[in-house]
Amino acid sequence: MFAKILIANRGEIACRVIRTARKLGVRTVAVYSDADAHAMHVELADEAMHIGASPAGESYLRGDKIIAVARATGAEAIHPGYGFLSENPDFVDQVVASRLIFIGPSAASIRAMGLKDAAKHLMEKAGVPVVPGYHGEAQEIVLLASKAREIGYPVLIKARAGGGGKGMRRVEHPDDFSEALSGARREAKAAFGDDHVLVEKYIEKPRHIECQVFGDNFGNAVHLFERDCSAQRRHQKVIEEAPAPGMTPELREAMTEAAVKAAKAIAYSGAGTIEFIVDASQGLQADRFWFMEMNTRLQVEHPVTEMVTGIDLVEWQLRVAAGERLPKTQNEIELSGHAFEARIYAEDAARGFLPATGTLHHLKFPKAAPEGATMRIETGVRAGDAISPCYDPMIAKLVVHGKDRQAALDALGAALSQTEIAGSTVNTAFLAALAADADFAAGDIDTGLIGRHQQALTAVPPPSREIIATAALAASGADHLPPSEDPWSSLAGYAHFHPMARRTRLRHDEEEIVARVLVGPDRRFEVTLDEPADAAQSREPDAALDPDVFLGEPLVPPVLRPPMTDWEWGTPASPQSPLAPSFTGRRFRQGDEGQRPRTARWPGHVTVFEGAIGYIFAVPDPLVRADEAAAAFDSLRAPMPGLVKLVRVATGDVVTKGQPLLVLEAMKMEHTISATHDGVIAEIAAEGAQVTDGTVLVRFAEEAHTAMPVSAG
Ligand code: ADP
Ligand code: ADP
Ligand code: MG
Repeated sequence: MFAKILIANRGEIACRVIRTARKLGVRTVAVYSDADAHAMHVELADEAMHIGASPAGESYLRGDKIIAVARATGAEAIHPGYGFLSENPDFVDQVVASRLIFIGPSAASIRAMGLKDAAKHLMEKAGVPVVPGYHGEAQEIVLLASKAREIGYPVLIKARAGGGGKGMRRVEHPDDFSEALSGARREAKAAFGDDHVLVEKYIEKPRHIECQVFGDNFGNAVHLFERDCSAQRRHQKVIEEAPAPGMTPELREAMTEAAVKAAKAIAYSGAGTIEFIVDASQGLQADRFWFMEMNTRLQVEHPVTEMVTGIDLVEWQLRVAAGERLPKTQNEIELSGHAFEARIYAEDAARGFLPATGTLHHLKFPKAAPEGATMRIETGVRAGDAISPCYDPMIAKLVVHGKDRQAALDALGAALSQTEIAGSTVNTAFLAALAADADFAAGDIDTGLIGRHQQALTAVPPPSREIIATAALAASGADHLPPSEDPWSSLAGYAHFHPMARRTRLRHDEEEIVARVLVGPDRRFEVTLDEPADAAQSREPDAALDPDVFLGEPLVPPVLRPPMTDWEWGTPASPQSPLAPSFTGRRFRQGDEGQRPRTARWPGHVTVFEGAIGYIFAVPDPLVRADEAAAAFDSLRAPMPGLVKLVRVATGDVVTKGQPLLVLEAMKMEHTISATHDGVIAEIAAEGAQVTDGTVLVRFAEEAHTAMPVSAG
């Protein structure tokens, strides 16, 4: 085994690899960019070296620098993780030329599978079924369009160098072919520097089922069963599971046999995944699956396979790279129970899964899975870390295992609803809605499921009055007074006989909320919503009240620290009797964390968690509100940092509602910014401009509103 390895990656996967290395007594070297100077992977590794600026092109994609660090630190091998350099055969050549070991397959294997067109030719020869379509050299648009017609619509245009669902367009109708082609090419060029495409038959009711394979340097290859990754949005995986629901022994045998055949055809060594597309329109049939591509690396969703086989795939990677044989034979690899992985992302599901950035001011994962289940949280961030626009916005992977699919699904739902993230928009509510979706729960999934149910899966019910009251209470700071252990300070509480009150203003979405929070001398709270101004005036109990003090300052003088008691809120049954025992709200006992809605305060905001939903309330600073209102009205702003890729209209153009105005490239995806109403363009951003979150992209000569991004797919 190696004494020391370098991990050429960041985030959760770097942390994941370090964990196994440590278990095996292997020392680790991390590399990091400017943005990651204080990242978790840097902290966990035994050593860490800075390799460049934040953009991946200047750091994590700089093979030369990474190899130099490996040599300088005495690392013997490089683990690439996934993404970045993991599937770059030139990098592998350089690693080997520097007399280091690449923890992964040979450059030749990666080249054989690197381009989807060449891989399909190869698999055809090896006798593995491939998706019908055109995967030739010639790329003239007329030829591609005629191939598409031959194949029959709908078709899928795919970048041959594609990965992560990028550079892919589904086309329903010949009229849309050329537009889709240029979109796919542009995205492919930007993400992979290669705009060659293939055209495939779009499989109806498709399921994505993939096989984990593993090879060693002695010609052995095994499979570790399948994973189902059909729950996708924009061709990207959302929740993965193993085994595939409804899998038949016949299909499993045919598929795993094809997968091992594929691995052997390229003398594969290390961890790899053969992705198949399955036509599930008539259930799972042994002759209805086709090779899509091979990922010649560790897959994001590898933990579900680890959960059902009990095998540490990173350990196997290290052993095989160090020259050991596969630790188990095919017969010794067994399936047990069921596992799910949910990818928690910083993104806005309701706005077309737009990637989000922000600082994770509050981050809390469940401590343990429910009885009988097991759980793993794979993450590379801690509370206080920022989601950088330079990298994938994944926050964590929540992985659960149960004795069967239902037990695992229950554990997944429970874990999602105990996860608390504040500071960025996250997809936990969407994941929980998907886990609870009737079709998903029944195992009736295909890659179109999320799209069909998108409305329901992304709709969030408005906050209840209880949630709003909780937000107001948290915003007031009244529930965060330090508990008293000091007998002297609790005695001091006796000096206060009057209730104290604060008027609190909040905003949820576009709605202004005014609440009155009252704290009684016995440390009970009352929150009143929508109180008419005159009523509030008339019932302020004299001296203790100060209705116009906003939040941020201590609500109650520090001397008031009575012992903890019950607290309650709700609409007072009688407006004349604040703190009377007759409230209509629910009643909670302090310290009863299971029942009390959980909250997190972060700069300018309060988040209230209800199940997997985090309701975000802004606590506006009254001084800046007038400004904001004035600025918002006649422009479209960048919803996130990015690059203005394409500008489709010019100053003076008359545009109509829904018309695409420009394409913003952010986080390697394209986002079309469309007109939110009819108008005349007064000003528009320049092509090639780098913009930050909130930059004005378009100014209308007439009135307009905020940018509504439309998904690229
Ligand atoms: P998986 O099937 O494991 O989800 P994906 O193809 O989605 O694999 O990619 C895994 C990760 O690697 C994702 O985070 C994706 O953003 C990233 N990725 C994939 N291809 C590339 C690439 N060519 N360059 C940079 N990152 C990539
Ligand atoms: P990537 O390299 O981006 O992962 P893939 O070829 O693996 O690209 O395809 C990504 C996803 O797109 C698949 O998981 C599947 O959902 C969908 N897809 C790919 N090919 C087809 C097809 N021919 N018909 C229907 N869906 C497809
Ligand atoms: Mg794929």
